Formats: sequence, structure tokens, C-alpha cells
Amino acid sequence: MKQITLINGDGIGPEICDAVVKIIEASGLKINWDIQTAGADVIESEGTPLPERVINSIKKNKVALKAPVTTPIGKGFRSVNVQLRKELDLYANLRPCKNLPNVNTKFSNVDIVVVRENTEDLYAGIERQIDADTAESIKLITRKASERICRFAFDYAVKNNRKEVCVVTKANIMKLSDGLFLDCFRNIALSYPDINKREILVDNLCMQLVQNPAQFDVLVLPNLYGDIVSDLCAGLVGGLGIAQGANIGADCAVFEPVHGSAPDIKGQNKANPTALLLSAVEMLKYINENHYAVKIERALFKTFEQGIYTCDLGGQASTTEFADAVIKNLNQ
Ligand code: ATP
Repeated sequence: MKQITLINGDGIGPEICDAVVKIIEASGLKINWDIQTAGADVIESEGTPLPERVINSIKKNKVALKAPVTTPIGKGFRSVNVQLRKELDLYANLRPCKNLPNVNTKFSNVDIVVVRENTEDLYAGIERQIDADTAESIKLITRKASERICRFAFDYAVKNNRKEVCVVTKANIMKLSDGLFLDCFRNIALSYPDINKREILVDNLCMQLVQNPAQFDVLVLPNLYGDIVSDLCAGLVGGLGIAQGANIGADCAVFEPVHGSAPDIKGQNKANPTALLLSAVEMLKYINENHYAVKIERALFKTFEQGIYTCDLGGQASTTEFADAVIKNLNQ
């Protein structure tokens, strides 16, 4: 039986985790969950929000499903999410954004996968204060990181029957840094003759996304543009409650929703488990359990088609009622 690390998080984490685990179990797929607590709740007993045992569990199992984890502000702890990415070298951030039935958005046929480089660019943390009125941040782009993220995007496209990969840069202005990223894309693209290639400048992309998003398939971007564009795309399909994500490296992968732990609605049985469920569906595709991934995705879509959803999307269903409706639809 496949063993997977389950980080049930804090805030609404445990509630949405219960819902998702119940749905996966009802699909017939047997998973041995290696449950690991993390975040604000373990600080007192273990002195850190991210104990070593959590990292070791993911290294051992290679795959984790993670609910949101709060890093307390102002107590000197590094962000749990950032630390996980660094320690496990999760270099690719994957954000599939697809319309769900009955979720009211401006466009109805969006199906975009954003692949964001996760380790460098302006996020490398190379900054200095030149004088009291001047600060400098360095945009670091390397061939190694750029080639591996472009290869990841093309491999994802092949594995998931996608037609096109589009690289997003501002290479007309940052000729060296973004120019290098673009050059890496062109080199890697040569190995994928069956996938269409497209190049676009980030400002043009943003305009096109809000006018005609259906034209885009897989996007690959350096870190900063990827951060901004992935939120833009999440907004196109309905926002936080349904925005799934994953951070993937050469050895390990962590699948998690984009939203935070939503302490304002904790314990009220009204959180939307869709983003975590879609993250789990992507995880099942990653571990080649496609049959169950498709089965759960279909049941989820059917639930939306029936007009059953949680209150963040204008519905009436509680977290548990929503999960029960998805389970009912699994075998129909
Ligand atoms: P963080 O800094 O951890 O991202 P945040 O407060 O900025 O936290 P969220 O925790 O994602 O962001 O919450 C933002 C808003 O969206 C809150 O009002 C929250 O209730 C709502 N929200 C987030 N996730 C969900 C969800 N799964 N279901 C329903 N509402 C949600």
C-alpha cells in the first residue's frame, strides 16, 4: 500500500483534511497516511513549527499532502512553507487553474497550468542597503535552474496531454537575466518536437489573460512573474477556495492548497475543501493513480453541477455536507 505523508495543518486544516481523506478512502484507493502535525500547535511541545520528523517523513515517503500551516508572526520562526521548499529543494511550483461548473466567473473555458520557478530570481534574497535612501535587490537567473524548470514544464505537458508550453519573460528589457531564461527554454524545447512552443512578454500575457484566457495552456515563468501570474489565473477561475497547488522537486513533492489556514472560520464546518481536494487529485496523477484521480475529479465536478457548494462560493453546504455529496457522486 502506498504511504503518503499527511500534514493536517492548523486553522481549517484538520477539517478540510478529514473531508479529503474521507473522499479518497470512499473512492476505493487505499493509502497508508503517515500523519505529521506541524505549525502553531506543535511549537510549545517541540520548540519549532516544522520539526525534523516532518521533513524526514516526506524524504522517506517522497510525497506529501499538506493542509495550510500557520507560521506565527514576530516570534522568530522562518516560514514553514519556505523552509519546506528549501530543505526538500522543491524547485517547481505547479498551479493548475481550471473552471468549475456553476462557479460564476467572467470566462468559462479556462484550463491553464502555471509552472513557476521556485528557487531564484528576485527571491534569492540577495539584497543590500546602499545608503539610507537606496536599496538594491539582485535578480539571479542561472542556466541550471532555468533549464530544469523548462524541462519540468515540457515533461508535465507530455504526461498530461497538453498541447503547448508558453514561456513568459521580459527579455526585451532584461536582456541578460530573462534573456538567459528564454535561451534555456529554446534549448530545452528542441527535445520536445510534439509540443507547440510560444514566447510572450509578461505585460502582454497579463492583458491577454484578462481578455481571452482560453488561448493559454501551460505557462512557464521565472519566480516573480510566476508568483503574480499564478494568483491572476486563480482569480480567473474563482479564487482562493478552489486554488490548488504543488511544490515539486527531483526527489519529493508536496501538494497543497494556495489558501492559508483561515483562522476566521476555523472549527465552524464551513471551509471549502475543494482546493485541498484538487491538490490531492493532482497528487494522485503524480503517483500514477490516474483512475482514482479522474474518478474523484468527476465526482467533484458533478457536485458543483448539482449546485452543491460551500458558502465562500455562495452555496449552503457545510464542509461535511459537501464531502458527503462528493462521496455520493463517486459511484454514479
Ligand atoms: P495566510 O497569510 O496564511 O495566507 P490569510 O489570512 O492571508 O492567511 P487565508 O487564510 O487564505 O489568507 O484567508 C483569506 C480569506 O479567505 C479569509 O477570509 C478566509 O476565511 C477565506 N478562505 C481561505 N481559504 C478558505 C477556504 N478553504 N474556504 C473558505 N474560505 C476560505
